[in-house]
Amino acid sequence: MAVHETYTCKDCSFEFTDQESLFFYNHNLNIIEEYTHLVSTAGISRGSKIQGRIYESYCKHCDKYIETYYITYVDCPEYNSEEIIDIVKSGIKNGLKRLKNETITKIEELKEIRLRKEYKIEKRPNSIAKYILKKLSNLSQEEKNEIINRHLEICVKLVELEGCEYKADIKDFDSEKEAIEYCKRHAFGNFFDEIDREISWNSNFFKRKLKYLYRVEYWDSEEFYNITTINCPKCGNEVYKFINPNYPCPNCEGELIHTRTLCAD
Ligand SMILES: [Zn+2]
Ligand SMILES: [Zn+2]
Repeated sequence: MAVHETYTCKDCSFEFTDQESLFFYNHNLNIIEEYTHLVSTAGISRGSKIQGRIYESYCKHCDKYIETYYITYVDCPEYNSEEIIDIVKSGIKNGLKRLKNETITKIEELKEIRLRKEYKIEKRPNSIAKYILKKLSNLSQEEKNEIINRHLEICVKLVELEGCEYKADIKDFDSEKEAIEYCKRHAFGNFFDEIDREISWNSNFFKRKLKYLYRVEYWDSEEFYNITTINCPKCGNEVYKFINPNYPCPNCEGELIHTRTLCAD
């Protein structure tokens, strides 16, 4: 399970979520793949010969996040340590290219889905009618029909999107037409909101990734805990190695406080 902790500055608007990202080198694609500890990602790095974990910091002079890839595991006797670092660096670059293409395709797909408006309307007995009919099984057909007609619901479904539907009891409206309009409005409302949310999440994620600077280092536990700063790879200024409440806000030196915990599995 991955635990995402969010920290917010008490003095400025700086906010940061620690994703506890890990990485591994995908030899076949020549890319660095990033992931977090989830049930769905269990074992994803198995067999990879270069693995590690990512820590984020932020340089206010450059207004850029810095991701440091700490190599924690290597099993490539054929390469020296400099060559391994080069492999990771080019893997990061290739991974970003792939992410860019994937994001563009995903957003295009979502925009295309947003344009579809095909829906189908179903008229069916609601749950009350079903319940009554089940309980009173010795009714005549005429009596059954009367119950069904009294308890009808309208359901509007989007054809291409499973699970995107809205239903309402006809008797709650002045006419069947009104019930249909109501359902359409709600079904499409949910649908568009959901798609819009997904589009903006994807483009924000990628935009944020483009704002990163990258560093690659070998993990050295002693150095890791004793030296708390790194040099920004762009401007050279010292910045804190981590973003968390043990360190001041990287933007204004104010106090960082823990504001949210999100568990994902
Ligand atoms: Zn900088
Ligand atoms: Zn601040």
